Amino acid sequence: MNLILFGPPGAGKGTQAKFLVKKLNSFQVSTGDMLREEIKKDTEIGKKIINNMNDGKFVEDEIVNKLLEKIIFDSKKKNKLIFDGYPRTLNQAKNLESLLIKSDQKLDYIFFLNVNKNTIIERIEKRKILEERSDDEANTILKRYDIYMTDTKPVLDFYSSKKGFHEIDASLKIEQISNKIDDILKV
Ligand code: AMP
Repeated sequence: MNLILFGPPGAGKGTQAKFLVKKLNSFQVSTGDMLREEIKKDTEIGKKIINNMNDGKFVEDEIVNKLLEKIIFDSKKKNKLIFDGYPRTLNQAKNLESLLIKSDQKLDYIFFLNVNKNTIIERIEKRKILEERSDDEANTILKRYDIYMTDTKPVLDFYSSKKGFHEIDASLKIEQISNKIDDILKV
């Protein structure tokens, strides 16, 4: 089973992805983590993306799409993908669709974790204390939310009429969100 966790930063995609990885014996595909790793290792990609990341802007589609390709064609991970933070643009959504077809896979579920701005600000502020994340300054949080809402609208429209699309109220408690997802997945 392949699924997408879709929603603004702070909606709890990462948390739910980790639960699902255990329950479904799957792999979390977090482009955010992959990009942070490139910065940490100070790679060529890392050098190119650091400014955008720190500004809360999206990294170029070309770079993110390239990072994703390796994972899609990894036979160990076939049909065991939990996408967390990808796709974020229409270009990425179309790229994912084409890569899945090429690798003889499909998307089974798309969960839209919908949450309002105030809840997100509270959550990201808490997370900032727990994790050391340079891109999570207060202003950046607001910018990221707004960019997300504008830029990902076409992605939402792309998926909302597809089979397997479910909107979940992500202002609920972690466990309630997870129960709702499990009910749909019947796990
Ligand atoms: P995340 O950990 O998913 O909240 O991502 C943190 C940051 O990484 C975002 O604010 C973007 O700068 C960058 N990023 C992560 N995933 C993507 C993506 N799919 N497309 C473009 N930029 C991304």
